[in-house]
Amino acid sequence: MRSLAIISLIVFILFYEQNTSAHQSTCYQTNKVCICHAKSEDIELALRAIRKADNFFNNIGYSETYFCEIDFQKKVEVECRCGQLFRVIGKLGKDNCIYLTKRDEQWLKKQNAFGLEMSKEFYESLIVHEIAHFITEKITGRKIECSRSEYIAYVVQISQMKSQMRQAILNQRFLPAFKTQEIDLEIMLLDPAVFAVKSYLHFKEDKGQFLKKILNNVSY
Ligand SMILES: [Zn+2]
Repeated sequence: MRSLAIISLIVFILFYEQNTSAHQSTCYQTNKVCICHAKSEDIELALRAIRKADNFFNNIGYSETYFCEIDFQKKVEVECRCGQLFRVIGKLGKDNCIYLTKRDEQWLKKQNAFGLEMSKEFYESLIVHEIAHFITEKITGRKIECSRSEYIAYVVQISQMKSQMRQAILNQRFLPAFKTQEIDLEIMLLDPAVFAVKSYLHFKEDKGQFLKKILNNVSY
C-alpha cells in the first residue's frame, strides 16, 4: 500500500513537471519558421521581427524565401579562437537555426549598447538584427566578412525601429556617417553603438549602394 502511494506521488510529480514546462514555453511552427522555448508574447515579437526584416530586404529588391528556427535560450555562447566561451545576445547556428538569449535574463538587461531600457520594443529590434544576419547569409550564399555583416544587421535594426526609438539613438551622440573605408570591425568591438549609428548614417547617405554591393558579392 505504502509503495503504491510512493509510485503515485512520483507519477504525480513527473506529470506536474511536464505540464509546468509545457505551460512556460510554447513551440510555434509554420512552413516558414519554427519558434522554440518562447512565451507567447515572445513568439509575437519574433514573428513581427521576421516581417520587419523581410520588409527591409523586399523594399530594396531582395525577396529571399527561407525556413528558419528561432530558439530562445537562457544562455547563448560562442567559442573564441583561444577556446574560451563567452556569452552573446544571439548567434546563427547550423541548420538554419538562430539562437537568442531569453528576454527575461538578467544578463541581457545589462547588454543594451544604446543605453536604452530593455523594453519589448528594443528586444524586438535585437531579433530583427539577428534575422538580418541570417537573411544576408541566405542572399550572399556564404559567410561574409564580419564588419560587413554587422553593418547590414545594424542598418536593418535601426531602419525598422519606430521613429521615436531611432531618433533617441541618433540624438544620443551626434556622429558623422562612416566613410566607406572606415567601416571596420575594430570600431564595432570598441563601441557597437557608435558603429551602428555611423553605419546607419552611411547607408542613408549613399542610398543603400554599398549595402547592395555586399549582398551582390561585388568587391568593394
Ligand atoms: Zn550582429
